[in-house]
Amino acid sequence: MSEEKKTRKKIHATDTMNSLMASYFYDLNDASKSDSRKVAWCTSVGPAELLRALGFAVHFPENHAAMLGATRTSTDLIPEANAIGYSPDICSYLTADIGAWLKGFTPLAKAYPGIDSVPRPDVLVYNTNQCRDVQDWFSWYSKELGVPAIGITSPKNVNEVTEAHITDVANQIEALIPVLENIAGQKLDLERLKEVVSLSRECTELWKKVLETATASPAPLSFFDGTIHMGPAVVLRGTREAVEYYKLLLAELEQRIAEGVGAVDGESVRIYWEGMPVWGRLRQHSELFSAFHATVIASTYCSSWIFPAFDGGDPIRSMAKAYLELFIVRSDEYKEGYIKDMLKKFNVDGIIYHDAKTCPYNSNNRYGLPQRIEAETGIPSLVISGDLNDLRCISDEQTKTNIEAFIEQIEEGKP
Ligand code: SF4
Repeated sequence: MSEEKKTRKKIHATDTMNSLMASYFYDLNDASKSDSRKVAWCTSVGPAELLRALGFAVHFPENHAAMLGATRTSTDLIPEANAIGYSPDICSYLTADIGAWLKGFTPLAKAYPGIDSVPRPDVLVYNTNQCRDVQDWFSWYSKELGVPAIGITSPKNVNEVTEAHITDVANQIEALIPVLENIAGQKLDLERLKEVVSLSRECTELWKKVLETATASPAPLSFFDGTIHMGPAVVLRGTREAVEYYKLLLAELEQRIAEGVGAVDGESVRIYWEGMPVWGRLRQHSELFSAFHATVIASTYCSSWIFPAFDGGDPIRSMAKAYLELFIVRSDEYKEGYIKDMLKKFNVDGIIYHDAKTCPYNSNNRYGLPQRIEAETGIPSLVISGDLNDLRCISDEQTKTNIEAFIEQIEEGKP
């Protein structure tokens, strides 16, 4: 197998996305310095729609932590959090982000001149649908900054999302409203909430279409493109700007399909990525797969920002349903069915499971799931050990050798 270095093909919409993200961060910075606007920190699938409808500028610490990973600064920051009692074995988003705060560091300062710190919050709002770590993370900041941490305690390992689950979470969302109104200094306008939830739904539908362009062969975008272009879906869901951005991106990808342009030249192997990205190795991993004409065409991670349940006509219950239907909330039985559907939809040749040392919640290789799926589908799989942010948990040579051998095995098995 020949190995030649390939760089990622530029998606032209990236410039627009970069401007959009810059406006978002400058707006947050302005809000944190103004007396009239309030800032809320929110977990990735926390009640962002409610916060936006109440006029909060919304900061997502997980997005900030992923930036620490992508800029490869996290590994030096994690020990700062370890030193105050947060184990190197727990979420390296948490330890990198708290470490960055303790050191007074943010990658925003370099990326966006004039910003010198993450925005100071007026309230911290979590949802434990993804893991317990987010509650611990926000509780630390609550004590450090003297601001309230409130949130939703979610059911976990859910097989079928029932009306009882939805009522439970919807009641918890409603209980947040008076507390948030008090901090925001304004009453919730139900019409505004309906509008925000409808925009989140529009964003989600467009993001789904963007990801599903990769059902084409060759796929016009890869998982590595997806991890970058999901930015607006993560931090700007519920806004018109995010919707307009995904219309632009979708048009460009459809154009690529019409012209037969793939993210990887000569695509011959199609891989599904299950688990977290390795933020500090996105470029290397992208180049590694491209060199062997393999495209990582789909992932659970990027698809986790698809929320089909959002319904502007029934905002609170539909928010509750959307936050519960998330893959990470579900049972292994549900996850197996979901992954098998994705393998079929995207015509996948092989699966890579990323066993992220510090995130058991997004590492779905630990309870026999890969073996069960492989036995049922015959699609081969590989587990790679690593981490989302802590580069000390990664062996680049081992990863490269294993991925190379895996792609060769897939190619040899092809008719
Ligand atoms: S799901 Fe994993 S990566 Fe995300 S906050 Fe929780 S432990 Fe960290």
